[in-house]
Amino acid sequence: MSIESAAFRIPRQRRSKRRLKHANHYKTMIEDIDRDVFVRIQTDLLVVGDSIMTDRHHASNGNYEDDDPQNQIGGIIPAFPLSGWLRHGMEETVQEYGGTACHPGEANANFMKDGIYDRDLDAGYHEKGACTDEPKEDDGCVVFDLFGGFGGVPGKVMRRPIKFNPVRSSVDYTRGQAEGHYRRLNRNVVSRNREDNREPLRNAEIDAVANLDGCWHLSFREMKPEFIGLLAEGIDFLDAHKTDFMHQLGGARNFGAGIVDCRLINPLYEERELKRVFDRGKGNTNAMDEKDDQWEEEYRPAFVEALEERIEEGP
Ligand SMILES: [Zn+2]
Repeated sequence: MSIESAAFRIPRQRRSKRRLKHANHYKTMIEDIDRDVFVRIQTDLLVVGDSIMTDRHHASNGNYEDDDPQNQIGGIIPAFPLSGWLRHGMEETVQEYGGTACHPGEANANFMKDGIYDRDLDAGYHEKGACTDEPKEDDGCVVFDLFGGFGGVPGKVMRRPIKFNPVRSSVDYTRGQAEGHYRRLNRNVVSRNREDNREPLRNAEIDAVANLDGCWHLSFREMKPEFIGLLAEGIDFLDAHKTDFMHQLGGARNFGAGIVDCRLINPLYEERELKRVFDRGKGNTNAMDEKDDQWEEEYRPAFVEALEERIEEGP
């Protein structure tokens, strides 16, 4: 054997040893992770169409004025747009690891564009639910396992809405809440015809949340190491691609809305440590720094490896 090939073999051996160690370890390591995990979400402007629910009827006492900057109203961002955004990031992660992802739509759905489903199947998707014969018994691919939505299976990750409040001291981050300021934007659509002198044709009102910063709460009905691996990788993917049109959140993306800074909050943190993340007056404790190192060096790589193995196994 030549020197070169001997040298080449050493890292490969090490790698397989490491793999073996993880294969034994991540099953017990996952027991250290709580079923509730939190994603930090920060965005300057979020538009969720007409689907932001506000509590202005409580706060305004009947005197609500859209354009009053003193409005102290909160509301709820429903989980639907958040879920679609996360799922898309996770699908791309699965594809980057060489797998195919469950298509989110039914194969027989009436798409507005011909051939769109087949085109997606060529681009890294498999037909929704094609990865499982018995959806109630067999888990299918990792995306199906998480999101379900076929054969009456709900999926193993529960995505909650985000309750936002403009008063920071009223925000409970440990319950998946956020600081955020409800705004109603008014747009006048004017006539382009010279004779009309820019006469308004219609007025559009848009619900928006400004300066959102908080936690999105995800609960796992069942925990698996590859779920956390995919969540960590998917959230990093979304953060890295936040200015891509495809990976912005909600509507009005052409107007700079929905650019989201996101990161998985260290799942090893306890509640009081989670709160500290949002306390501008306090930094990390030593214990938090230690947990960050543990997460980055031990836990996260093990869970990502579990994800790689699950994807390698095929759907
Ligand atoms: Zn699938």
